[in-house]
Amino acid sequence: MNVTYFCKTCDKVTRVPFTADSRAVSCTRCAATQAFPESFLDEDEEGNCILERCTICGSHELYHRKQFNQRLGISIIALGSTLSTIAYAYHNLFWTFLILFIFAGIDLLFYIFMKNLLQCYKCNSEFRGFDDSPEYQPFNLEVHEKYHQQRVRLERAEKERQWLEQEAGNQADDDSTKAGA
Ligand SMILES: [Zn+2]
Ligand SMILES: [Zn+2]
Repeated sequence: MNVTYFCKTCDKVTRVPFTADSRAVSCTRCAATQAFPESFLDEDEEGNCILERCTICGSHELYHRKQFNQRLGISIIALGSTLSTIAYAYHNLFWTFLILFIFAGIDLLFYIFMKNLLQCYKCNSEFRGFDDSPEYQPFNLEVHEKYHQQRVRLERAEKERQWLEQEAGNQADDDSTKAGA
């Protein structure tokens, strides 16, 4: 299994493999260590090993989604429609529709056989290479919204803190000028 996460030390996204025994991972770009929580794996009712929490931020809320490669999906459709347009230009309706049909089928097959991944609502880390389990939940807009609001509030609080610090600094400067005069 592997985790794709945002490294706060170098501000970049990195993907690192890990095992059930891993206690931490190191960023592939800047080598900064990211510690894991005590335990992050569990077993579901069928005995599958499941990821119980995000190893990066420790949040228990993860969602399950298809690992859809948008660029690949669009390329397949674009190629199909180009070829069918050529067939259409040659007044060959049979091939025009057959090509469209085949390419739509290929897209569908890609979708069906696509692997799943788990994503953390809180820090957006992605986890791949897990056993599938019926216990994993699909995306839930309410949970997403909850974390989104939390992030907005944190950002606002951070801005206020910076502003207060700056003000305090200005105040101190004023005081020292007065004391000097
Ligand atoms: Zn890094
Ligand atoms: Zn997380």
